[in-house]
Amino acid sequence: DLCLQKAKQASELNAFVTLTVEEAENHGIESEKRLYIDKNVKPLEGISIGIKDNFCTKNISTTCASNMLRNFVPTYDATVYSRLRQAGACLIGKCNLDEFAMGSGTIDSIFGPTRNPWGYRKNDDKWRIAGGSSGGSAVAVSSGACVAALGSDTGGSTRNPAALCGVVGLKPTYGLVSRYGLIPLVNSMDVPGIIARTVEDVTAVLNCIAGPDELDSTTLKRDFNPIVMKELDMSKIKIGIPKEYNCVGMSKDVLETWQYVTKLLKNEKTMIRSVSLPNTSVSIAVYSILNQCEVASNMARYDGLEYGLRANEDYSTEELYASSRSQGFNNVVRWRIFAGNYFLLARNYDKYFIKALKLRRLISNDFKNVFNGEDSVDLLLTPTTLTDAPRYEDFVSKHNRDQCAFQDYCTQPANMAGIPAVSIPVRLSNDNLPVSLQLMGPCLSEDLLLNVARKIE
Ligand code: GLN
Repeated sequence: DLCLQKAKQASELNAFVTLTVEEAENHGIESEKRLYIDKNVKPLEGISIGIKDNFCTKNISTTCASNMLRNFVPTYDATVYSRLRQAGACLIGKCNLDEFAMGSGTIDSIFGPTRNPWGYRKNDDKWRIAGGSSGGSAVAVSSGACVAALGSDTGGSTRNPAALCGVVGLKPTYGLVSRYGLIPLVNSMDVPGIIARTVEDVTAVLNCIAGPDELDSTTLKRDFNPIVMKELDMSKIKIGIPKEYNCVGMSKDVLETWQYVTKLLKNEKTMIRSVSLPNTSVSIAVYSILNQCEVASNMARYDGLEYGLRANEDYSTEELYASSRSQGFNNVVRWRIFAGNYFLLARNYDKYFIKALKLRRLISNDFKNVFNGEDSVDLLLTPTTLTDAPRYEDFVSKHNRDQCAFQDYCTQPANMAGIPAVSIPVRLSNDNLPVSLQLMGPCLSEDLLLNVARKIE
């Protein structure tokens, strides 16, 4: 109840699209509150959670922050939500996001932007963005409304807002956590992500939701062994610092934080080595092409017929599709559909799509080489974002809109390679805003990744 109070108090931050205790009562289904009273000892008993509004929740509207799904009420639960419920967690609300999870700021939502609680003052228009696209989930946690929240991560959408809001954000290995019921953005890169205040809390949630799911054929078939937090001998760990991640546009605060943690690790006798991931510079372009191609194909399901918004003009089938989509989607979504279809035209297919797939393989091999090749390292340490949280007015300026893809510079390679990555808040910038670093590891290295992350937080 205290969390719910905080959620309501925090309404001006716009973290939630729907507060679900009320919604659940309206629909006459079991009130989430009853889980509090039921005293079976479950791993997440009574723990308040938020869920990004692109995960399906039975009888609770799931909008993707889009006009297209404004009135969509799913008839089934995403696997991650059913597992959290089974573990005793209590859903407080569905969290705000960029429309269909396309963005890095949580500024492009039909419900308006989410505000970062850091440095926020009432009626001050100099407020900072929450990062995105899971900004609602990050703010729900950092404002104290939830102990943990689920986001989705296709190119950094869990780690980026976690970093800007000073909380921990995990993108698990692709296939470790079921995507069943997560409305797809880029099927080959999407993973449910976890946001919480500490690495230990993130781990507790991961332990409840990870593992095979027969409803998602891309989940890994082997059973998941719950992760235990343990004392590590840091002198046995090798950490690589990829030199390509030191890129143009990275702020002094971020660079200094990266150096500061590297030094702390050296003091613990951790082996630190400079490594190279030579294809990093093309990564953003490759990510954008593949993202847009999969978006173009995924969005074809929104035709105004089965579900979602249906425009009034039904003069012809094509007309109905076109007007439903132009009324249902914002410019970012429509632009990606156009771009994706352009890359997929027969005459462009080899030039863009196939080439991007080949480069994706090289990017993924770069990681394999540093983790398995000669002089291999166990984990990589990089910044999560290039700067601390930008002001809303700066972020939406024309210049930054054009540079938008660049926000994902440090995060999207992990999605293309399918590897796990975690963002950890480290210290405050000169503007008193959180600065976070990212650890990445080989596929299924969550145990080591989270145990080392706990040392850094
Ligand atoms: N900013 C990226 C994009 O817009 C990340 C999205 C995500 O991870 N969902 O594609």
